[in-house]
Amino acid sequence: MIEVTNPYSGEVDFRFEAVGVDDLIARCAALRARQPGWHANGLPARIEALTALSASLVRHRVAIVDALAADTGRRLLAEGELSSLLGSLARWCALAPGLMSEAAGQSAVPGLSYRNQWVPLPLVGVISPWNFPLVLAMIDAVPALLAGCAVVIKPSEVTPRFIEPLRRAISEVEALGPVLALVEGDGATGRALIDQVDAVCFTGSLRTGRKVAEAAAQAFIPAFLELGGKDPVIVTASADPQRAAATVLRASVLATGQACQSLERVYVHRSLQQPFLEELLRLCAEVQLNWPDPAAGQLGPFIWPQQAAIVQAQLDEAVARGARVLCGGQVEVHGGRWLRPTVLVDVDHRMAVMREETFGPVMPVMAYDTEEEAIALANDSEYGLSAAVIAGSLTEAERIALRLDAGGVSLNDGSLTAVMHECEKHSFKCSGLGGSRMGPAGFTRFFRRKALIYQSGEPLSIQIFSERPR
Ligand code: NAD
Repeated sequence: MIEVTNPYSGEVDFRFEAVGVDDLIARCAALRARQPGWHANGLPARIEALTALSASLVRHRVAIVDALAADTGRRLLAEGELSSLLGSLARWCALAPGLMSEAAGQSAVPGLSYRNQWVPLPLVGVISPWNFPLVLAMIDAVPALLAGCAVVIKPSEVTPRFIEPLRRAISEVEALGPVLALVEGDGATGRALIDQVDAVCFTGSLRTGRKVAEAAAQAFIPAFLELGGKDPVIVTASADPQRAAATVLRASVLATGQACQSLERVYVHRSLQQPFLEELLRLCAEVQLNWPDPAAGQLGPFIWPQQAAIVQAQLDEAVARGARVLCGGQVEVHGGRWLRPTVLVDVDHRMAVMREETFGPVMPVMAYDTEEEAIALANDSEYGLSAAVIAGSLTEAERIALRLDAGGVSLNDGSLTAVMHECEKHSFKCSGLGGSRMGPAGFTRFFRRKALIYQSGEPLSIQIFSERPR
């Protein structure tokens, strides 16, 4: 049995059994067997099934949100996760028909023509993390199902409570149950799953992502990896310090900083540092924990208790190396673990808090003097998930954004990649691998293109390859 700690109370209040490997193999075989029928029914039937899933999710809304709130220690974001999933289902159902263009044409070689057949990957495996348990379990599953794949999802062992109510909602859609399964388990189950699928969509840490990439290479399947980040924000001298501080605060501490696209490094032009910090500290003081009243405040607990220890260790190391804490800075234990918005100054790139993913409500602020310096500092990271630029004009912000080594850049705001699903976006450097999960490619990557090449003339004879005398 795997024991699960409640992030709010800090007590173990949930236990579950991981699926055994034989059972996992059998379930994957059953999904694989049903996939051709799911695909053969056609896209309109699949859209109908996923629309029915939306209706079923709405019927099961209370149970799913209750379980998610227990998983994560926060209710409003749990409700937001369900709404986001409903939005994603509606969006992909509307978009998918327009993305299925099977190409056909003539070759430059006389007599030859071709047609592309789009062949879905039979079984897609999804391995998801704990920070947005529902959204990240379903984010790749929805387009994969629409593409005609069967899908098996292995959510994080840290947040498993939502699985059962979600499973009940899925089971009410007759067409979907046979091709969409959720399996409980930990890292060992995730590892075993990779050997049973035709592609793996993994969202999680870089450390685990490397292991998943290796296992996928051994299994010789594509791996779509969405990993961690250390997102920088550059605030230029022309920015409005009030607007910049409010944006940085929201985009850094939302969800207790437990979002891959959280801003984790703040570079402010030296001339703006003082008014920016004054406003940031004023706003930080207004942020409340959702403790002791779970229905109040803006800041939930750490979902995974060990994350609090990781964040505290980064803060302690930074202070030991000369950083100053202007607010927050100490994890509070009230059963679960909370950290108030934390602002650090006198930081540099030797410190883990400027290099490693923090995944907490921490804003280390560094002053810069020139645009070149700001860009160099922002790009000085092994990660390249996303970034932000806050300037006096979008033109100035764009000039800087074009030079940032990151897959998505928010201009005059922060963390916009969380709400912009329409455009394609790669994860640069160690933040990911394997194509965009957003935009059209988020759907088309689940197909292989088969080329049917038609000969309407005479096939070549071997004689035309006869050697000739010089
Ligand atoms: P994690 O890497 O610890 O675990 C993720 C999943 O991998 C879990 O389901 C886990 O059981 C499974 N797993 C563990 N070992 C495995 C193995 N050897 N083989 C296969 N699966 C294995 O990540 P986490 O701590 O749950 O999530 C936080 C991380 O996720 C952060 O780094 C965050 O930035 C990242 N994340 C990225 C995105 C993105 O879109 N780029 C989104 C959200 C979270």
